[in-house]
Parts: sequence; structure tokens; C-alpha cells
Amino acid sequence: MLRLRNISYSINGREIIKGINMQFRGDMIYSILGPNGAGKSTLAYVTMGVLKPTTGRILLGDRDITDFSITEKAKLGISMMWQEPARYEGITVREYLTLGGKLRTNKDELQEVLELVGLSYELYAHRFVDKSLSGGERKRIELASLLLLKPRYAILDEPDSGLDITAGRLIENVLDYFRKIRTTVILITHHEEIAAKTDFAYFVCAGKLIKKGFSREIVQYYKETCGRCFLAEMRVR
Ligand code: ADP
Ligand code: MG
Repeated sequence: MLRLRNISYSINGREIIKGINMQFRGDMIYSILGPNGAGKSTLAYVTMGVLKPTTGRILLGDRDITDFSITEKAKLGISMMWQEPARYEGITVREYLTLGGKLRTNKDELQEVLELVGLSYELYAHRFVDKSLSGGERKRIELASLLLLKPRYAILDEPDSGLDITAGRLIENVLDYFRKIRTTVILITHHEEIAAKTDFAYFVCAGKLIKKGFSREIVQYYKETCGRCFLAEMRVR
């Protein structure tokens, strides 16, 4: 189980994350739902070790991993898909997906995973992961790479952003695959229809955990409260 215990994060005297407690058990698909500026990405950066929390601890089982680097966390099976994935010159999709041949996989699996994210193996395996890929294509490749890595925990930051109308179906496919390989998913989103595809949801606003529960219940609450609150941040503060 991955636990965030009393996590706060401040920058320039402003508290962006305020005493957040969350826990993520195996075999469950979670979402962190909240409006723009709620602090979702910051919480993901803190969890991954890109940012250091001002207070609080991150625990994996009984182990305190607060001060672990991204690489150390990756070794423990915690991986993340960034909101804006990087591009790399001179590396093909196939090389990227197989970590330059280090990942044990085969063409069938690559093909299956690429098709699952809506890309044909023939058309994409030999393309470069550079600026010639559209934002949506790059995101799909990033999702494929996370599926192939089979992490214990996968943090997806707004995986549907920049994708077209097929995003909902794509996210469903990805979540089904993660369920099958028993990865615990932490899906960050501001779209209630995406959060509705998860089992359990945390609703955050203005850096605080407002409510948690089964996704159906939290999505309903989010629609009722957030939909009416155009100045969410200012009101909660
Ligand atoms: P979300 O991902 O939920 O949209 P973010 O975590 O990106 O929200 O940001 C939360 C709040 O913190 C926003 O108001 C954002 O402007 C602010 N913020 C994030 N990073 C910084 C930073 N480096 N300096 C100042 N403010 C920041
Ligand atoms: Mg964000």
C-alpha cells in the first residue's frame, strides 16, 4: 500500500498542498479529481520525488520513501505519466517502448499494447519519438510505455488531455489492462466522466482533500459543488 501522510507543499510562502492524507491499495483503480489549479500535479510531483514535501511522509508498506529519487521510486515499481511527456531525437517508438531493448517483450505484446492505445504497429514502431509526433500520438505512446513497464503503481496525470473524442474509450482500455496486470492506478483528472471509470476517488480543491469515497458518489458531489463554484479556489481559502 502506498500512503501519503499529512503532505503539505509550499512555494514562495504559498501553501499549494495542505495536509493531504491518501492511501492507495493494491488491485484498485483510484482517481484524484479536482478543478484546474487544485494542486493535483504538484501532489503527483511530490509523490514521485520531483518536489520535496514541506511536511509529511510518503510510505510504501512500512518503508518511508519520502526522500527517494524518481529513479529509486521507479525501481520500487512506482511510475508516472507526465502531463506533458518529453520527446527524444533519434529514438524510435520501438526502442523507446523496449527501453532500448532492455525490457523483455516481443512483437506481439508491442503490437497489442500499441493497438490498445489506438496506434498501428506497422505505422508507428519505426517512427521517431520527436517533434514529428502530434501531442495526442505522443500521449498514446506514453500510455503504451507504462502498460509495457507493468509498474506496481502508475500515476497518470491528465491522461486524456490532448486526446480526441476517442479518449474515453482509450482510458477504459488502459484501465482494463492495468486491472488485468494488477497495477494500482492513480488517475489525475478534472473530468468527472474519466473519474467515473475508477473505483475510488479523492476530490481535491485549493490544495485540500475535500472528500473521498466510491467514485460514483464523489463524481456526483463534484458535479454538484464544483459546477456551481466558479471561484472555487477563493471560496475554499
Ligand atoms: P492542477 O494540476 O490541479 O491543475 P497544480 O498542481 O499544477 O494544479 O498547481 C496548483 C497551484 O499551485 C496553482 O495555483 C499553480 O499556479 C500553483 N503553482 C504550481 N507550481 C508553482 C510554482 N512553481 N510557483 C508558484 N506557484 C505554483
Ligand atoms: Mg495538473
